[in-house]
Amino acid sequence: MAAYLKLYHNGKLAERVEAANTLLKNCQVCPRHCGINRLAEETGECNTGKLAMVSSYGPHFGEETPLVGKHGSGTIFFTNCNLKCLFCQNYSISQLGDGSEVTDEELARMMLALQARGCHNINLVSPTHVIPQILKGLEIAINLGLRLPLVYNSGGYDSAETLEILDGIIDIYMPDMKYSDERTAEELSGTKNYPTINQAAIKEMHRQVGGLKIDEDGIAIRGLLIRHLVLPHGLSGTKEIMKFIAEDISPNSYVNVMAQYNPCYKAFRIPHLARPLSKQELLEAIELAKRAGLNRLDRLDPVIARAI
Ligand code: SF4
Repeated sequence: MAAYLKLYHNGKLAERVEAANTLLKNCQVCPRHCGINRLAEETGECNTGKLAMVSSYGPHFGEETPLVGKHGSGTIFFTNCNLKCLFCQNYSISQLGDGSEVTDEELARMMLALQARGCHNINLVSPTHVIPQILKGLEIAINLGLRLPLVYNSGGYDSAETLEILDGIIDIYMPDMKYSDERTAEELSGTKNYPTINQAAIKEMHRQVGGLKIDEDGIAIRGLLIRHLVLPHGLSGTKEIMKFIAEDISPNSYVNVMAQYNPCYKAFRIPHLARPLSKQELLEAIELAKRAGLNRLDRLDPVIARAI
C-alpha cells in the first residue's frame, strides 16, 4: 500500500498540502531560499511560478531495474530545475524550459493515466522546486483512485526541512549524490554548499524510508536508492561519496554508480568535462564503491561486470 494512503485516511495529508503551499509565498521550497512570492507569479532561480510545468509523462523502461518491472516506471518529467548543471543531458527540459504549465487537476490526471497503463510507480523526475504543486495534484488523484507508490527522483539539492513535509508521503527516494567538493559543485551546478545540503537530505530520506525493499517480483516498494554519476577526472568525488554512504547511511544502501556521462550542453566549455567517461575511470569508481563496503550496486553493464 502506498504510504500516502494512511495520511490521507487519517486526515493529515491536507495539513501537509497546506504546509507545502505556504512555502511558496516567500519561496523556501528548496535550499536556494529565493524568498519571492510564487503565488503572485514571481519566479526565482528555478524559473517556475505558481503552477508546475511538465515536459512529458509516460512509462519509462530506462530506469533502475527494481523500478521498471514489466510495465515500466510511470515518469513525469517536470520542467526546470533548482540545479544549473553545465553538463545536463536533459538540458532542454531542465534549463531551457521545454514544457507547459499544468493545473493541479491535470497533474492528477497524468498520475492516474500512468496507473491505468499498468506502471509500477509514479516517478517524479526533478520534483524539488514543485513539491507543493505535486502534493495538491496528489490529493486530487487519491480522491480519484490513485494507489501507486511515489518515487522522488531528485538531483539531491533538497532542503531537509521541506523533506520533512514529505514524511509518510514518499515511498521511494531516488536522489543523486553529485559532488563531494563544494567548489566543484558551485562551478558545475551553480549551487552553494551542495555536499552539506545533499548529505543532510540523504540522511533525512533514509530516516523516513530506510534501505530499499524489493518484493518477490523484483519491484521496489519502499526505501532509498542513491544515484552517483561518475564524472571524468574525478570531479564527482566518488571516493568520499561512497565512504559517506557506507559509513553514515548503511553499507547495505542500494547504489547506482552511473557510467553514462557524455559531454553535452555547456560541458564542452570545461576542458575536464569535454570527453566521455573512460572505462578505466568507471572501473575505479566501482572499485571505490566496493572498497568502501557497499554491497548492493545496481546492475552493471555486462561487459564491465565481467571485467571487474
Ligand atoms: S524552489 Fe525555486 S524559487 Fe523556490 S527557493 Fe528553490 S529555486 Fe528559489
